[in-house]
Formats: sequence, C-alpha cells, structure tokens
Amino acid sequence: MIRTNLIITAAVTAICGVAHAAQPASLLAASNPFAKASPLQYGYPQFDKIKDDDYAPAFTEGMRQQAAEIEAIANNKKPATFDNTIVAMEKSGQLLSRVSSVFGNLSGANTNDTFKALERDLSPKLAAHSDAIRLNGKLYARIQSLYAKRDKLNLDAESKYLLERYNTDFVRAGAKLSAADKDKLKAMNAELAKLQTTFAQNVLEEANASALIVDTREELAGMSDKAIDAAAAVAAKRGLEGKFAIPVVNTSGQANLAVLTKRATRERLMAASLTRGSHGGKFDNTQVVLQLAKLRADKAALLGYPSFAAYALEDQTAHDPEAVNKMLSEFARPAVANAKKEGAEIQQVIDKEKGGFQLAAHDWSFYSDKVRAERFAFDQNQLKPYFELNSVLTNGVFFAANKVYGLSFKERKDLPVYNPDVRVFDVIDADGKQLAIFIADFYARSNKRGGAWMNAYVSQSSLMGTQPVVANHLNIPKPNDGEPTLLTYDELRTLFHEFGHALHGMFSNVKYPRFAGTRVPRDFVEFPSQVNEMWSTQPEVLANYAKHYQTGAAMPQELLDKVIASKKFNEGFRTTEYLAASILDQKWHQLGASQIPTDVLGFEAASLKAAGVDYAPVPPRYRTTYFSHVFSGGYSAGYYGYLWSERLDADTVEWFNENGGMLRKNGDYFRKMLLSKGGTMDAMQMFREFRGRDAKIEPLLERRGLTEK
Ligand SMILES: [Zn+2]
Repeated sequence: MIRTNLIITAAVTAICGVAHAAQPASLLAASNPFAKASPLQYGYPQFDKIKDDDYAPAFTEGMRQQAAEIEAIANNKKPATFDNTIVAMEKSGQLLSRVSSVFGNLSGANTNDTFKALERDLSPKLAAHSDAIRLNGKLYARIQSLYAKRDKLNLDAESKYLLERYNTDFVRAGAKLSAADKDKLKAMNAELAKLQTTFAQNVLEEANASALIVDTREELAGMSDKAIDAAAAVAAKRGLEGKFAIPVVNTSGQANLAVLTKRATRERLMAASLTRGSHGGKFDNTQVVLQLAKLRADKAALLGYPSFAAYALEDQTAHDPEAVNKMLSEFARPAVANAKKEGAEIQQVIDKEKGGFQLAAHDWSFYSDKVRAERFAFDQNQLKPYFELNSVLTNGVFFAANKVYGLSFKERKDLPVYNPDVRVFDVIDADGKQLAIFIADFYARSNKRGGAWMNAYVSQSSLMGTQPVVANHLNIPKPNDGEPTLLTYDELRTLFHEFGHALHGMFSNVKYPRFAGTRVPRDFVEFPSQVNEMWSTQPEVLANYAKHYQTGAAMPQELLDKVIASKKFNEGFRTTEYLAASILDQKWHQLGASQIPTDVLGFEAASLKAAGVDYAPVPPRYRTTYFSHVFSGGYSAGYYGYLWSERLDADTVEWFNENGGMLRKNGDYFRKMLLSKGGTMDAMQMFREFRGRDAKIEPLLERRGLTEK
C-alpha cells in the first residue's frame, strides 16, 4: 500500500562516502564526537556524547576536508585511472558523511531550535559544497576521459556501472554547462536549498499551531476516555488548562475523524488540517511554493529541459512525464468511479440514519467504518486490542523476517539513544553472524516530522568494510504511562512497510557506497518495502502476532477471516486521494518557467478538475502547502513512484504465491536477486532477472479493486 514515508538517503549531502583513505590533517577538536569514526560497534553514533554545538564545526571541517580531497583528485598529475579518480571520490568525505547522517536524521526525528537554525544556515552551504564538486571542470574532465574508454578498462560489472553513474550524475548536475551558466546554477541551488528548508520548517510549525482546541469533553464524544484525557494533557502542556487539544497529523485525513460523533467537531478538525499553510500567518507556504516551482522550472530550463518533471524523470525508471501521465490518467477514471460508488454507499447510511446532509470530506472515515461494520460485521475498534505494538514487532515483523530470511533479533540496552523510547536490536543472519544494527523509533513527538521513514546511519560497503546501522521512524501516538500501545491496521502495515526498507538496507551486499541498499531510483525504492507488507496478512504471521493484549488469546479465526476479506474495502478512497496528490505533484513540476501561476489554491483546484479527481469528499492525501514529500523531501515530481513501484510489488507477491508462499528458499532468492543488490545495475533489468520477465499490471489492478467494472 501507499505509505507516507520518506526515505532519507544522505538527505543533506549530495555526495557521500565513508573513507579510510589518507586523511587531510583535521582542524576539528579531538574531543568532538565526529572527529573520528565512532568507536561503537559498526560506527553506531555516540548519541550520548554528541552535543548540539558539535555539529557546526564538524560540518565546516567535513566540507573543508572533502573539498581538499576532491582538489587533490582533480589536480592529480598522473593520468586518470578508475582507482585514482572514481574510487578516490567514493572514499572522500568521511567526516562529512558521519556528521550529516546523524544531523540529517535527527533534524527530522528529534529537532529543536538549535537544529532548525543550523539547518537554515547549512542547507545553502551544503548545496554550494556539492556544486563545487559536481561543477569542477578538471574533475569532470577526468571522469569523462574514463567514461569514453569504459569498455577497455577491464572493470567488473559493478565498477563499470559506477563509472557510468558518475558520468550521468555529473552531467545532470550541470558539468557540461558554460562557466557563466554554472554560476547561475549555483545561485539557484543555494536558493532552492533555503526554500526547501523553509517549507519543511513551516510544515512542522503549522502542524503544531493547527491543533484543534475544544472547550468541552462533549465535543470530543466518540473518543475513548483515555484519548480525551490525553487531549487534556496536551492542552495543559500548551498552557490551555481545562481545554482539550487534538494535534494534526501529516496527511489531510486525521485518525480521529473515524470516531468523533459530533459532526461540527469533525468539520473543524478537517478544516484545520486542509487549510494548513494557506490561511495566512507566519507559517503560510503559498509564496514558498510559487518560488520553488519557478526556480525548479528555471533550473530545468538552464539544463535543457522543458520542465522540472522532464529533468527529474529522465533519471527514473519511468523516463519521462508522458509515461507518468499515462499511468495516472489510466488509474484516475476507475479509481474515482470506485470512490464515488463507496461514497454512494456511505450516503445510504447517512440517509438511513436521517442525517439530513450530503457526505463531506469530514464524514468519510466515520461513516465508512459503519459501512465496513455492516458489510464485514466488524469495526476497527475490535481489532486494536489484538494489535499491541511489541507483539506486532516481535511476533509479526521479526517473526516474518525469520521465516522468510532466517533472521533473528536481540534487543540490546548498552548502546546510547537520543530518546528513551528508542529501541536498538542486533540483527543476526541465518548463518549465526551479525548482519546489522536496527534502531526503532516509533512514537510521535512534537519535535518529530510527521509520517514514517527509514534511514541509514551507516551504509554497507565492502570497499569501506562497513556494515549497516539502519533505523525506522513512525508516528504512533504514545499512550499514557502504563497503557499498552494498540495499533490501527494502517499503523501496523506501516511497521511492516518501513521494515521492508530496513531489509533493503541491511541485506545490501555491494562494493561501493554509491550503490548501498536503498540508493536506487526513487520510483523503484518503494517496491521492496511494499513487498514486505504482504506478510502482515499472511495467516501464519497474523495468527502469531494478533493476540489480545490482556488475555493473550489469539484473534478469533472468524475475525481474522474478516480482516483478510475486507482488504479491498475503501480502495477507491485510498487510490483517489493518492492519485490526486500525485497529480498535483506532476502539475506543479510539469510547468515551464513562464507558466507559473500566481494563485496556489486556484491552480490546485483547476489541476484536480482537469484530471477528473476533483471529488470533494476525497481531498488529496496532501494539499500543495503541506506536501513535504515534493516541496522539501526527495520526491519532487516523484510521488507517483509509490504506485509505479506497486506494480512490481503486486507482481512479486504473485511470484511468492506461485512458488509456495512463505518459504526460506523464496526469501533467499528474493534477497540474492534483489534486496542485496542495491543500485549496482539498471533497476528494471534487476527486476527482469529476478522475475524472468517484465512486470505485469494485472495483479495491481486486481489488488486495488479496479478490475470489477
Ligand atoms: Zn516507503
């Protein structure tokens, strides 16, 4: 399924590497925890020793060191060889990589005012640093000379592909531009970096500022007493004693809309969510969006492309905007038709209850649960007691990884963490040797970005002798002390999804850091994580983790059957809200530099209407002004990638089923042919070699309920 996750792959460094090569003399105080590789296992970060004021000097020195290393490579008197140029670059920037992997992730997972200020200061500097490398003429001349004779260099397949990637990366970054145009590009990149940071910071501030505040318990009818108490505690923390505060989550939809019985409260909560970033005030993002859209279009034009989407998509498996538009439009019509059918069923329930109103966006979850209850004779609240976080993690996610791949897990308490709720596990491979360290950070916090994502603190590389330290981040509301953490079905599936990314990182078995784990095209990266979701409803797995948190009783078989039978329920809604957001992303990024509108919300409405996804009860999963994936994350012109890679996912699920399902031999084969290969070859070729053919679309249509027309 589509998730709202971001993968952070070296988010703040464009060029990374972990080097053991001769280091330039360091100007960094030896007491700075980033000065040397962490002495902890696998270079696990010293979270207990790192202080806020350690980052800035480490970044400054990290950039200085890498710049010196790159200068030495570019000015080498000896002719370019693969080793003295490409491999040397892979090994450069060790200090910068160390500090940016920790900073890049903690600025999303555990930020504060110092982080925010530093982020604003650093983002243009890091963009300039990256440009100084990619736009270095002497350096590119060396790469180009190697690229021209790549067939005669006797390189193994991974090394040859690395050389090709470097050439492509440099050309796409502007290496072939004139000196004057390179200067223009540098200025644009610095400005873009600043704007993206501003956008992201506004989204976080606005989410906190948009919490729904109500005066009475009655207005929150439908929520459990515990949840209302928690809302009172949130309000008190904000100095609003006696009131109640409901924080707003990342997406347009809000979990509480499913339970709030008072329509007026639902309406207020939905409005608070939908108007984020566009109702004026300090955190309004409309001008930021317009500037970003214009600058990205300008940058694409400078590089010779008609739009930013054309530039971005050229390097993806989709290749061009036409291919993406075709897929989005093919799905739009049946998906909206499906959503309207679901909407009609909901309206029937409203009418039967003599509601006397037309279905609106804020009613959907609430009444859709009633339809579900009627059709499948269960509701979400019956499930939750069986989905206790720790059981889902150990008896579900870890259990499945053991059955499919032979992995086992051991929690450890000796490694430092940046928040007491964070957990750490050793990951042991089937042969008994340790494979990786896995960090689990599951709870929501006001200083944590919304959504869910995976990141690598240390990436695997045989060249560097490194093994993976990877983390998963979710935003599960933390219960009051002593209460169990009971998950919704969506949260549970997200847990499996993010762990799929973690597996991709942990099984990585590549030589070069450039290709480690999840460093694959953006429209391919969601595929392995989506595949891992299949185990969440595998009967053997479900039966193992779905136990009542109080009694330990297994979930009754009939309830299990109902859960599985209802998998396609509400797919019209899900597909439509996702498509609407994907279409907005494409519309904004397919604009030419002279076509940028002045009215953000007007453009948004017109775009949805033109694409036929303007069905008011189903708003886009993200509206423009809080669409972090595409305006500050790495998914610009790339949000379609979830559906694009789901085609590969659905076809792979079919492959598992054709071959006997949940068997070690299947897991081992998938690991060998796909999960271990990172970005070492063309992604679609990798899929073809795994599957024996190209992916079919039918399994995806079937899954999304789009074949029953
Ligand atoms: Zn994902």
